Amino acid sequence: MLMLGCVEQTPFPEPPEDITLELRKLLAFVQQAAWKQEEYGEDLKRFIERTVRFVDAHRDRLLKDAASGTAEVRPVAIQGLGFAGDGWSREALIRVLDDPDPALRERAIQALALLQSRGKAGPADLPRNRIEEALSSTFSREVVQALFFFSTSPAYGEDEALVGRIEERLAHPAREARVQAARTLAIHRRERSVPALRRALSDSEPLVRINAVSGLAAILQSGALPQVIPLLADPDRDVVQFSAELLAHLAPRGIVYRCAADGDFHEQPGRCGKCGAERIPVPRD
Ligand SMILES: [Zn+2]
Repeated sequence: MLMLGCVEQTPFPEPPEDITLELRKLLAFVQQAAWKQEEYGEDLKRFIERTVRFVDAHRDRLLKDAASGTAEVRPVAIQGLGFAGDGWSREALIRVLDDPDPALRERAIQALALLQSRGKAGPADLPRNRIEEALSSTFSREVVQALFFFSTSPAYGEDEALVGRIEERLAHPAREARVQAARTLAIHRRERSVPALRRALSDSEPLVRINAVSGLAAILQSGALPQVIPLLADPDRDVVQFSAELLAHLAPRGIVYRCAADGDFHEQPGRCGKCGAERIPVPRD
C-alpha cells in the first residue's frame, strides 16, 4: 500500500558508510596507539599505512568535506588531510586558514604543522597573519606551539616586526608562551633581541633562562660570558649544568677577568686595580 502524503519518507537508503566518520575512528585509534608504539610495533606501522591509503583513496570526498562538510565532518576531514595528505591537501588546508570559524583555523594550522613534520609543507605555506593571530593569544596552547614551529623559519627571522612581537611575548603571563618565545629568539639569533634576552635571564621559569642564555651565547659568542657566569650560581640545577656546558664551549681554556678600559687582567672577578672599573670575564688566550 502506498504511503501517500508522507513526503518526508524517501525510499532511498543512506550510503552504507560515511567515509569521513569512518576516518575519525581510524585517526582516534592512531592517536591512542601512538602511545604504545613499542608494544604494537610493525602492526601499528601497517595500520598507519592502511589509513594513509584510505585517505588517499577518498581524497575527493575529504577535500569536499574539509571545504564544505557539516560541522561534524569538517574537523575530521581537515585532520585527515594533515595526517595523510600531500601537495593536494596543502592547498585545501591553506584555504581553511581563512575560514571564519577559529576552531577550524586551529585544526588547519595543526594539520599543516603535521604536513610540515612529514616534509610535505614549508614555512611559506603559513601566512604571516596567522602567526600574528597566534601571538595575540587567540589560539590554544598546542596551536601556538605549532605556529612557533613555523615562526622559527629563517624567513620569519628577517621580519623585524614579527621578531619584535616574539620579544614582547617574553613578558607573557603563560610560562609556555615565554619558553617558546625565548626558544624562537635563540634560533633567530638577532642582535636586536639581545636586550630582551638579557631581561629574560631573570625570568622565574628555568627553561626561559636556559633558552635566553643559549640565545645570548649564539648571538654574542664569548661576549655572552658576563651573562653566562652568574648563572653558575642559579638556584635551578638544570640552569647551572647548561651554563657550565656553555662556558666550556665559549671558553674551552678557561676565563680571566679583564678591565675593558686598560686590558689589565686578573684570575678573579672584582674591580680593576688601576682604574676601579668592574673586570669582565673573557676567554683565556
Ligand atoms: Zn682598568
